[in-house]
Amino acid sequence: MIVVFLGPPGAGKGTQAAFIVEKYGIPQLSTGDMLRGAVAAGTPVGKKVKAIIDSGELVSDEIVAAIVEERIEAEDCAPGFLLDGFPRTVAQAEMLDAMLEKKERQVDIVVELRVDQEALVDRLRNRIREAEERGDPVREDDNEETFKKRLGVYGEQTAPLIPYYEKQSKLKGVDGMGGIEAVSAEIAARLDEIKR
Ligand code: ADP
Repeated sequence: MIVVFLGPPGAGKGTQAAFIVEKYGIPQLSTGDMLRGAVAAGTPVGKKVKAIIDSGELVSDEIVAAIVEERIEAEDCAPGFLLDGFPRTVAQAEMLDAMLEKKERQVDIVVELRVDQEALVDRLRNRIREAEERGDPVREDDNEETFKKRLGVYGEQTAPLIPYYEKQSKLKGVDGMGGIEAVSAEIAARLDEIKR
């Protein structure tokens, strides 16, 4: 089962991804995590993308598509995988469709986590406060200004994926405003409908 997670920053994709990994035994492929890993490791790609990530803009479609294409070759992706943070543009979605087609696979379902815009900035403030209380580092792009930039980028470049996947009859909207467990239950219900 190949699942795409769609939703603005702060919608709870990471939290729900952990639940899906656990329940369905498929790996989570987070391009944000992979890019931050490349930055931390100081690879050539990491050096190229650090400033872009910190500014809240998108890394080039070619760079992220190459990272994903390589990752999905791994054996653990054979039963399926959950894409979190990719695709983020219509061009990336087309690249994904093309790379899966070569392997005679396809996206099975796109789960869109729907949340109120106003709730997102509140969630960010909580996330920062909690990280600080725990003494954990706060992501460089998790400050209010860059976060608002990321929300704008989502609306302009990623939201067009909603009609893109609607047209493919793959889009399932899930109310992301409930409690964590209620949201997980709704996602599981959608996945179980199509599971094979
Ligand atoms: P978010 O909390 O916004 O969902 P992510 O961890 O998914 O954050 O991504 C953080 C940053 O990494 C993005 O703002 C962007 O710069 C870069 N990035 C992640 N995935 C992609 C992608 N598919 N295309 C382009 N840039 C990406």
